[in-house]
Amino acid sequence: MELTVKKAKLWMEALNEKIQKHKEYLSELDQAIGDGDHGVNMARGFQEVMNKLSDADYATPSDLLKDVAMVLMSKVGGASGPLYGTAFLKMAMATKNKEKLTEEDLTLAVEEAIKGLEQRGKAQLKDKTMLDVWIPVHHYMKQNSPIGWGNLEATAKGAMEATKELLALKGRAAYLKERSVGHIDPGSVSSYYLFQTLAETMKEGDESMTDVSSF
Ligand code: ADP
Ligand code: MG
Repeated sequence: MELTVKKAKLWMEALNEKIQKHKEYLSELDQAIGDGDHGVNMARGFQEVMNKLSDADYATPSDLLKDVAMVLMSKVGGASGPLYGTAFLKMAMATKNKEKLTEEDLTLAVEEAIKGLEQRGKAQLKDKTMLDVWIPVHHYMKQNSPIGWGNLEATAKGAMEATKELLALKGRAAYLKERSVGHIDPGSVSSYYLFQTLAETMKEGDESMTDVSSF
């Protein structure tokens, strides 16, 4: 399955729906180990993304992803705006001029997004940030060709849940030290939604699809 402009737009629509639906939950998670605004930040940002995409036409998925990046960078406050903005911008840059993105293109795009996140936020694996979802998902993508999208979703979910036991070393949660343990990282949940909706989008229309458990 390839990611076309149409599919990229469907992906962003599904992600926006997921974020709007779980806005309260994302903010509750952030109340426990941050300042309680992650749901509000993400919901505002992705509503703006929808406004931007709804009256635009794109020649390539890269052009669309670049617009997503620009909106998130300019409209979302907090750490997550610039971080997600960077991730989408890197994905756009990694896939420039390609009309359709193959699984290999997507894997490279995620790899570049991770580099951007690391550069921008200076966090590493196990620091209890969104990277704790992005890195295992990328690892899965690299190891599995063709990508099993149901398995990718499960990988993202497991990685998100595993942030609960981690001690935060970056972001606001790091101020809590040991008290950050026992709570899921909010940015890992929004990143799980990102990969969950990508998986759903890539599975849809796939004739060989057998795993429908996550719908
Ligand atoms: P803020 O922390 O500024 O209030 P948000 O609440 O919107 O911003 O986002 C918090 C999320 O951002 C965290 O749960 C974490 O996943 C992610 N995050 C914070 N700092 C970093 C960092 N340095 N690197 C990667 N991700 C980070
Ligand atoms: Mg916050």
